Amino acid sequence: MTTPSSPQAPDRAGLLSALAELGQVDLAIIGGGATGLGVALDAALRGLSVVLLESCDFAKGTSSRATKLVHGGVRYLAQGNISLVREALHERSTLLHNAPHLARPLPFVMPSYKCWEAPFYGVGLKVYDALAGSAGLGATEFLNAARTRACIPGVREQNLKGGVKYWDGQFDDARLALALARTAAAQGALLVNYCPVKGLLHENGKVAGLQCEDAETGQAYEVKARCVVNATGVWVDEIRAKDGEATGRATTAMVAPSQGVHLVVDSEFFPGDHALLVPKTEDGRVLFAVPWLGKVILGTTDTPRHDLSREPTPFADEVKFILGEAGKYLRRAPARDDVRSVWVGLRPLVRPTGDEGMTKKLSREHTVLVSPSGLVTVTGGKWTTYRAMAEDVLERCVQDGLLAPLPRSRTADFPLVGAQQGATSRVSISAAPGLNAYGSEAAMVQALPGADIDLAPGLTEAMVRFGARYEYARNVEDILARRSRILFLDARLAAALAPRCAEILREELGGHEPELERFQALAEQYQHLPA
Ligand SMILES: Cc1cc2nc3c(=O)[nH]c(=O)nc-3n(C[C@H](O)[C@H](O)[C@H](O)COP(=O)(O)OP(=O)(O)OC[C@H]3O[C@@H](n4cnc5c(N)ncnc54)[C@H](O)[C@@H]3O)c2cc1C
Repeated sequence: MTTPSSPQAPDRAGLLSALAELGQVDLAIIGGGATGLGVALDAALRGLSVVLLESCDFAKGTSSRATKLVHGGVRYLAQGNISLVREALHERSTLLHNAPHLARPLPFVMPSYKCWEAPFYGVGLKVYDALAGSAGLGATEFLNAARTRACIPGVREQNLKGGVKYWDGQFDDARLALALARTAAAQGALLVNYCPVKGLLHENGKVAGLQCEDAETGQAYEVKARCVVNATGVWVDEIRAKDGEATGRATTAMVAPSQGVHLVVDSEFFPGDHALLVPKTEDGRVLFAVPWLGKVILGTTDTPRHDLSREPTPFADEVKFILGEAGKYLRRAPARDDVRSVWVGLRPLVRPTGDEGMTKKLSREHTVLVSPSGLVTVTGGKWTTYRAMAEDVLERCVQDGLLAPLPRSRTADFPLVGAQQGATSRVSISAAPGLNAYGSEAAMVQALPGADIDLAPGLTEAMVRFGARYEYARNVEDILARRSRILFLDARLAAALAPRCAEILREELGGHEPELERFQALAEQYQHLPA
């Protein structure tokens, strides 16, 4: 295993002057979610000059709103999508290996209330184990009712026949995105958040770079690039449309967004260290109850959504569905008032034919598309497979002559910032968030002022300072939503912490105004369930 490079302190003025002084780069990436960051790291490790621009904060989009599973996708197995499952199982193992401070194996239990369920699902899960091969995390086991109750004490006991236990993984998605960003930066990539791409540069009908703007000052920049990758998730069609307009070609939408809602409740509703999977709810969906950072995530839904807000809100039916289904499987049914936070993510599902039918039938695999002008668009897939997606993108860029032939990818065995040499991913992230997530950088955090001042369980003043100094944080939201995950765990608590957090950021960022009021409004939204 290679040793991670020492972390840098990204000072914003320095980042922007580097952006202003850039000559032509090999690769310019639009979008700082899992997909764009994965491409940035892979490319930087292969020796390319790379710039990545993110309109908001890294992982502000879908990449902080996952169910937090590093998984092969049991439900894709049921759909017979063996190649997708096999690839994801392989990537699951790679991710656990390269970021043991942010990901860990997690046991799941599928409870059965009908005699046929355990053998039926158990056989499928044995196939899942077989597909994982040596990357397996533990063997699937059949449980009787007593062992099922022991593993998931919160499960409804009436008519419980038994269950099946299997293994997948769990991670902190936003912190993994930051680790990717910082690892790419340590390898020479220039990454700038709060810097939306406003347009593309074309020369002789070919994409030759982009125009972006510092969201804080409005200052515009131009970046020349041999190859431009559009990794903007559900927003890819906006960039594709700009390419089409400039070259006089109409584009048809590539993505059919679908939203997924998560509700977070206290761990007393589902105590223990195992997750629950209901493979088929009444309307044929999958439901998870997943212990995460001291709380429990319930979800999710799959609802077509056409307005692409950066902060989508749940529909009343979705909330009703999650609480209703959870109530059928949990001994203590959570009610609306028990919800500590509600958050919504948009899936970038790729349209097969432009058909706007049920999103569950659209492709979960990623797609790489190169426009006639050479704009490379990548979207779809899942967090778990970000690394393989990056390899595919770069391979395609070479195939299409946008980049010269490249050395082999190094990301399969390249630890991310914070990974400790020889560490195994056994850390418990079902406890409150805290120093664990900093891995080898924990001592750096502890050396900062305020290491002994707790703002909340798992969040010290020093962590806020670390976010500002080393992790690109500019606003209260960056700290409370993504450097720590308190907004996602308990929105009311996040609102209470925000003023002190803002004071620390003002101190650290030379008086920069860290958008306290906007955050308070957002924290309200995360507490609000539609009637
Ligand atoms: C509800 C839900 C649950 C999920 N659960 C899981 C799970 O448990 N495990 C798993 O493996 N996968 C999961 N996924 C899938 C996974 O989260 C996504 O596949 C992945 O996060 C997509 O990353 P992305 O980088 O393509 O998109 P995004 O994370 O959305 O990143 C795109 C970025 O582009 C930026 N951007 C947009 N326009 C511009 C512009 N003009 N200039 C600059 N930047 C721009 C956006 O701000 C955004 O940050 C889930 C998805 C959803 C919706």
